[in-house]
Amino acid sequence: MGTFDELLAKAKELAKAAGNKTEEVVGLTKLRMQAAQLRSEIDSNYMKLGEIIYELSKAGTENQELVNMCIAELEVQQEELAKLNEKINEMKNVIQCPDCGASNPNGSLFCARCGASLKAVQKPEDEQPQEEDTVQPALSQDQSEKQSD
Ligand SMILES: [Zn+2]
Repeated sequence: MGTFDELLAKAKELAKAAGNKTEEVVGLTKLRMQAAQLRSEIDSNYMKLGEIIYELSKAGTENQELVNMCIAELEVQQEELAKLNEKINEMKNVIQCPDCGASNPNGSLFCARCGASLKAVQKPEDEQPQEEDTVQPALSQDQSEKQSD
């Protein structure tokens, strides 16, 4: 019965997707694109995990190892996404004190912790307002668009 081969193929896909880690990124727009991509990967991985569990229980078997593996990969991706979102928020709303490293709301003139001037690290309001925070999940499946520059 080929079902197990299928399951394994799916698990491998999951692992591959998770191995596709966040590269070094610069810029809010790029971060947002990465977050969106990661989110849609997570979405489709949830679906695959669901399918795996479904098939397993339909077949009356258990493969906790396989399921755990998928869950572990998903967790990696979610951590990755959380980090990305954190970075995005930081870049959006926060400036860091050049002296003590404390985070201050964008627009602050002086550091709330040490009082240093923050004029030098002020940011423009928003660099690219055309893209809001809501991202359609699983919009594009094609990764081949051209990630390299
Ligand atoms: Zn400071």
